[in-house]
Amino acid sequence: MAESEAKLSALATETRAFPPPEEFAAQANAKADLYEHADADREAFWAEQADRLSWSKKWDKVLEWETPFAKWFVGGQLNVAYNCVDRHVEEGNGDRVALYWEGEPGDSREITYADLKREVSKAANALTELGIGKGDRVAIQMPMIPETAISMLACARIGAMHSVVFGGFSPGALKARIEDAECKLLITTDGQYRRGKPAPMKENTDEAVVGTTIEHVLVVKRTDTDVPWTDGRDLWWHDTVGKASEEHTPEAFDSEHPLFILYTSGTTGKPKGILHTSGGYLTQTAYTHNVVFDHKPGESVYWCTADVGWVTGHSYIVYGPMANGATSVMYEGTPNTPHEGRHWEIVQKYGVTIYYTAPTLIRTFMKWGEQIPAEYDLSSLKVLGTVGEPINPEAWMWFREKIGAERCPIVDTWWQTETGAMMIAPLPGVTETKPGSAMAALPGIAASVVDEQGNGVGNGEGGYLVLDKPWPSMLRGIWGDNERYKDTYWSKFAEQGYYFAGDGAKYDDDGAIWLLGRVDDVMNVSGHRISTTEVESALVSHPTVAEAAVVGASDETTGQGIVAFVILRGSAAKDGGDDAIKALRDHVAKEIGPIAKPRQILVVEELPKTRSGKIMRRLLRDVAENRDVGDVSTLADSSVMDLISSGMKEGK
Ligand code: ATP
Ligand code: MG
Repeated sequence: MAESEAKLSALATETRAFPPPEEFAAQANAKADLYEHADADREAFWAEQADRLSWSKKWDKVLEWETPFAKWFVGGQLNVAYNCVDRHVEEGNGDRVALYWEGEPGDSREITYADLKREVSKAANALTELGIGKGDRVAIQMPMIPETAISMLACARIGAMHSVVFGGFSPGALKARIEDAECKLLITTDGQYRRGKPAPMKENTDEAVVGTTIEHVLVVKRTDTDVPWTDGRDLWWHDTVGKASEEHTPEAFDSEHPLFILYTSGTTGKPKGILHTSGGYLTQTAYTHNVVFDHKPGESVYWCTADVGWVTGHSYIVYGPMANGATSVMYEGTPNTPHEGRHWEIVQKYGVTIYYTAPTLIRTFMKWGEQIPAEYDLSSLKVLGTVGEPINPEAWMWFREKIGAERCPIVDTWWQTETGAMMIAPLPGVTETKPGSAMAALPGIAASVVDEQGNGVGNGEGGYLVLDKPWPSMLRGIWGDNERYKDTYWSKFAEQGYYFAGDGAKYDDDGAIWLLGRVDDVMNVSGHRISTTEVESALVSHPTVAEAAVVGASDETTGQGIVAFVILRGSAAKDGGDDAIKALRDHVAKEIGPIAKPRQILVVEELPKTRSGKIMRRLLRDVAENRDVGDVSTLADSSVMDLISSGMKEGK
C-alpha cells in the first residue's frame, strides 16, 4: 500500500476551544509543569505516583521491560484491598462515606470506609473458609450492589483473582468465561432489578455452572425471589459471610501478583481475557483518578455511571477511587427508571461534583431533551468526563452547556480494557479542550500516531494510534494465550516495539489527538481513507439526527461506499422521507466534503450496541453487504439486527 493511501484523511476541523476557568485552574491538583516533570525522568515520576500507595515492602526497581512483557515496581509488596479500605480507616477517615448506593426501586444505603473494612474482612474470611486462596479464580456475576465491590475487594485481599461478568450476559457467555479461567467459585444474586421489575439471575447462573470447575455458588439476596437450590454447592451470602469474623489480617503480595481477568467488550470480535496485576495497576488508576478528575478526598462526591462488569467499573468505581479514599455514588439501575430525570435527581440528591459517563448515554439524554436536566439543581458539578467511544462534538457541546452550565471542564478519556487506566485525556485545570478531542497523552504516558511503516505522522495527518513506551497499568497478557497477546497487540509494529491499540487517530493542526474509531472501521472511498467517526459526527451535528452509525460497504466503482444508519429525533422521526435524507447527505458534503457524502442513508429505530453501549459496526457492515450477521453474543438486544436487516431488504 502506498504511504499516502495508508494515511487517514483528516477531513473535519474544529475551531471551538475552551480553556479551564481561572478559578478552577488555581485550585487544580495537576498543574502544567506535570508534563515536563514526568518527561524529565519517567521512572522517577512513576515511583512518585506509586508513593500514593502504602507498600509493605518497597520495590527494588521501578521497571523491567522485555518487549512485550513488563514488570513494574519489581520486588515491591502490597495488599490492594488494604490500600483501598483499611488504610483510610487507619488514617482517621473511617466515618467517611465510601459508597452512597442508590437502588433502582428507590432503596438506598450509605457505607463508610469503616463499614467497608468490616464487610470486606468478613467476605475474605468466608472465601478462605470455602477453600479460595492465592491465585484461585472467582467469577462474579452481579448487579450494581455494594456486595459486588465487596466481593472484588475480598478476592484482592486474599490474593485470589476475580473475573467479573456483566450482569446482563447469558448463561452461555458466563459459562465460556468460567471455563476459560477455570473459576472455583461463583458469586451471584437471587435476582436483579431491571427497569423497575425483579428479573431472574440465579436461574441463569445455575445453567452456566453445570459441568464447570465451579465448586460453590455464593448467593446475595437482592430481590428476595424464590430460587432453585443445590445443597452442598449453594450458600447464602448472609449465612456464610454474615457469620464470618470481622477480623482479617491482609497479607502482602508481590507487586506483579495477578489481580483480575476481565474480558473485553467484544466490539470487534471474540472477547479477550485481559490480565491485570497489582502494584502498577493500582498506581495508575489512583494517579489518573486524582489528576484527571481533580479529585479532592473528603470533598468531592464522585459518580461513575459505568457497570462494574466493564473495565471502567473496575478502574473507576472500585480500585482508583477507593485507593484515593473517594466518596462515590453507585447506582443500580437504568437511567430512565422510573423516569428520564433519574441521573439528575441523583446528582442533586448527593451533590455530585464529578460525573463520568459514556457518549452513548449523552446522545440518549439529548434525544430525551434538555428540558429534563433543566428541572434539577446541577450546580454541585465541577468536572464532567466521558469514555468508551469518540464523543461527537455536538454531544460534547450539549454536555458542556446543558449539564455543565458552561462552567465544568470536560475530560474525554481514551483508554481500553488492555490499558487498565486512562492514557489520553486533558488535565482539567491545564488543558484548553476542544469538543471531540481527547487532546494529549497524560503526563508519564507516551502515545503517538504513525503510518503503515510505523513512522510518526505530522500535524493535520492521521494514522494508527500506538503506545510507544510501557505504562504501569498495562495488561500483562491474555489469560492462557501469550501467542494471541503478541499477535493482537505487538505484531503490527514489532520492529519498533509499539503497542498497537487497534484505533485510528489524527493530529489536528495544533497537535491535539482525535480518535477516529477502529482501524477496521476506516473506509476507503475512491482511494481516500475516511473515518467513520468523522462522518457520524457530521450527521449528529444536524438538528434532526439523534444517533448515527457509519460503515463502508464494498462498491464496484469507488472500492467502498459510505452507508449510514441514523436515528432521527423528535418530530423528524415521523418524517424520514426522501427530502430529509437528501438534506442529510448535503449536510455531510457541506461539513466534510463531497467525498464523504453517504451513498445510502437508512433511518432506523435502534442501533446494534454491545452491552457496554458501543455501536457494533461490524454487524452493520454485514447488513450493508448483504451477509449473514456475525457473532452477536455481546449484543445488548439481538432483535435489533432483525429489524435493521429487514429494513435494508425492503430498501427503506
Ligand atoms: P473488543 O476489544 O473486544 O473489540 P472493545 O475494544 O470495545 O472490545 P473496550 O476495552 O471496552 O473493548 O473498549 C476500548 C475501546 O473503546 C478503545 O479501543 C476505543 O476504540 C474505544 N474508546 C474508549 N474510550 C474512547 C474515547 N475516549 N475516545 C474514542 N474511543 C474510545
Ligand atoms: Mg478493543
